[in-house]
Amino acid sequence: MGVFGCFEQDSSGLLSPDRLLEVLRRAGILPDDPRIAETIDNLERARPARLRTEPLLLTVEEFAAATRGNRGIIERAARGELAVPDFPALVDDLQRIYQEVHADRTGAVAAYIPQLARVDADQFAMSVCTVDGQRFSIGDAGVNFCLQSVSKTVSYCLTLEEHGSDTVHRHVGREPSGHGFNELTFNKAGLPHNPMINAGAIMSCALIQRGLDAADRFDYVAETWKRLAGGRSVGFNNSVYLSERNTADRNFALGYSMRERGAFPPGTDLLATLEFYFQCCSIELNAQQLAVAAASLANAGVCPLTEDPVFSAQTVRHCLSLMSSCGMYDFSGEFAFTIGLPAKSGVSGALMLVVPQLMGIAIWSPRLDAQGNSVRGIEVCRRLVDCYNVHTYDLLTGNGAESGKRDPRLKRQQSAIEGIVGLCFAASQGDLSEIRRMAACNVPLGATDYDGRTALHLAAAEGHRETVEFLLSVGVDPKPVDRWGGTPFDDANRSGHRQLARLLADAADTPGRI
Ligand code: GLU
Repeated sequence: MGVFGCFEQDSSGLLSPDRLLEVLRRAGILPDDPRIAETIDNLERARPARLRTEPLLLTVEEFAAATRGNRGIIERAARGELAVPDFPALVDDLQRIYQEVHADRTGAVAAYIPQLARVDADQFAMSVCTVDGQRFSIGDAGVNFCLQSVSKTVSYCLTLEEHGSDTVHRHVGREPSGHGFNELTFNKAGLPHNPMINAGAIMSCALIQRGLDAADRFDYVAETWKRLAGGRSVGFNNSVYLSERNTADRNFALGYSMRERGAFPPGTDLLATLEFYFQCCSIELNAQQLAVAAASLANAGVCPLTEDPVFSAQTVRHCLSLMSSCGMYDFSGEFAFTIGLPAKSGVSGALMLVVPQLMGIAIWSPRLDAQGNSVRGIEVCRRLVDCYNVHTYDLLTGNGAESGKRDPRLKRQQSAIEGIVGLCFAASQGDLSEIRRMAACNVPLGATDYDGRTALHLAAAEGHRETVEFLLSVGVDPKPVDRWGGTPFDDANRSGHRQLARLLADAADTPGRI
């Protein structure tokens, strides 16, 4: 029976495909996922027309035949083996965060072009996609917005794929600029500071597919976004493009300054390059697509929904490094400190956040703060990092339950169970330094396993006096009772540790004495 055991059967042993779809949906595998398209098709065909309104039931053999082509992903989803095993818990958290952050109406939409000033400022979308293609979206996640500066990430990746890092970085630096994103400043070599600010992104546009004509160069970039976003077509906002072009004095100034400094490769057509840059900024995606694109970056360049290897892992590594140091305008250092993840934002209120090897998150909300980042976008990031141990350096402060944050990579209860098992093991070994470390990481030292055994029982049974003294000194219950009615005193006594038994008896009489 295997994986079919996960799906409900009726009394005659028949299986319900609706139940299958429900299990997949809870795991984050949505019906439009190309990896289950064949199964959805087969199930649709198995349902005779007259039964369209009645529930369809299949024998185990019919069910196996219908799902055969997509067996891998279905089995992993049903067994809770995808990147975020407890996906419903993540969904609950995202819904809560969305509601909390929705109330924030501070900030102002970008007003340098009328097309951005006119958007409905209150729109708000959050979308997540894991490296196993588990998806969830909330809010205005189907509404298109233009990428603006978020486009700089993919433009940079395309230059790396085409020319390699050495050649690319002969034309653009990789240091944070310390200046505004469109400031007229260059590094000591007369090059743009990095590819995440305007001058650097204009340079990327000068480097992408120089041999193609303008239309093909644009198609190439748009097609790349489409591949990253799971194969669904992306849009283009022509009026944003036209008004970007008409109000682009600063970007023209950047372009001419770079030309004057000899920063571009010989033969660069400056006007065509700038137009190409404005077109890249005007590409439109919705939050669902941007989350899949972010997940493709989290997944080392391979789209989780289509398995399309869009970029090499090395390209993505370079891009995420620069997103980490330069992706969030003048807030990049602060963002790296508090959030600790690569991200890129744009003046349309888009924010793309990447949790390497785990998931991509897109947030879109047009009101911006003084640095030009989406107010709600930043707040969502803060709250995510408050509840999950996804900051790059959370690994130093312990995993899951130990840090007081949850680990989304673990199965339900797994982090709590691992904390208790680790603690009991350390106690049985008398490994006091490990116990102190766990205490510093907030593991509850009085926690019980499923048999009601505690660290104190194990330390007492093995005669580890120092450990027993430490546990009592931090105030754990001196006489917890396990499922066989035994206390640590009984353990010490049974194993012949008389002094320890006396210590425990005294502590039980006068808790807090030690
Ligand atoms: N199109 C904008 C510009 O070049 C992009 C700004 C941004 O999103 O940072 O000024």
